Amino acid sequence: MNMTKMLDEILKDKTSVAIGGHVRPDGDCVGACMGLYLYMASVYPKIQADVYLEEIPEPFEFLRGTEQIKHTAPKNKRYDLFISLDCGDSERLGFSESLFRTAESTFCVDHHISNQSFADINYIVPDASSTCELLFRLMDQTRITKEVAEALYVGIAHDTGVFLYSCTAPETMEAAATLLRTGIDANAIIDRTYYVKTYIQNQILGRALLESILLLNHKCIASVITKNVMDFYEAKPSDLEGIVSQLRNTEGVEVAIFMYELENQVFKVSLRSNGNVNVSTIAQYFGGGGHERAAGVTMRGTSYDVMNNLLRQIAHQLPKESGKQK
Ligand code: 5GP
Ligand code: MN
Repeated sequence: MNMTKMLDEILKDKTSVAIGGHVRPDGDCVGACMGLYLYMASVYPKIQADVYLEEIPEPFEFLRGTEQIKHTAPKNKRYDLFISLDCGDSERLGFSESLFRTAESTFCVDHHISNQSFADINYIVPDASSTCELLFRLMDQTRITKEVAEALYVGIAHDTGVFLYSCTAPETMEAAATLLRTGIDANAIIDRTYYVKTYIQNQILGRALLESILLLNHKCIASVITKNVMDFYEAKPSDLEGIVSQLRNTEGVEVAIFMYELENQVFKVSLRSNGNVNVSTIAQYFGGGGHERAAGVTMRGTSYDVMNNLLRQIAHQLPKESGKQK
């Protein structure tokens, strides 16, 4: 099917649309929500659209329209359509799930392999680099403004690790090229939103690397940041973005585990794989989700319990020799 027609078809006769993404929104989530919001404002100006997201990380605030984002869900509002972006299941929508539940109809655009098609209409492509790349396919390229391009570029760049991860396909580069032609300042966007770290972010990264341990015959690297440490640095969850990727870059490692304590004995776990272990199935086993090489889950217990449970599942997937503890 012609993808531009699909979006046209879905938005036909709609007067009110809510756009929502996952809790603790990242680059792809913010880029997708703002990209679609700005595109709709220029191409479908008659539709009243609202974006619902938790507080976004400060580096994304330069994107046009982010000051319009709503952080609470109105009690009695019922939208004609709720569009869920970059979110693997409805629970992960967080506070906006109530609007998803009450909407007349729902549409989901996502690239998580764990996504079970939870909306009325679903456009889910697990191979796609990012939700922003999928939105690009849904849009009429000739009507993508510079502001829309900035938002989509943020999402594509972030979810590909700046065009580095294996999910970067020729189509991803083609989409990025089209976005570049709108005149966006790609270097500044990537620098500002991806590479530049605050002093605190660098300190906590250093600490996580310093305290990391090798496990499972050096095939696995793990690091934990406790609530005490987060409080000491006054760090927010978004300050820990990127730590797990750095851990994964360790030579010889198949899987990187990074976890931080959300509240007492509740850990947000990030898993990254270099290809031989499918971390999405491991995250799903514990109630989370994600992609084959990048997945996440929230787990309860002491950090030792959580770690042991994860290691057992990882060891199952490693060849017998390397699965043994050293
Ligand atoms: P991260 O480790 O960066 O938080 O997430 C890696 C990937 O897994 C992202 O695509 C993210 O959306 C997904 N993910 C992370 N945590 C969860 C979770 O608790 N549930 C689900 N379904 N997906 C998650
Ligand atoms: Mn994504």
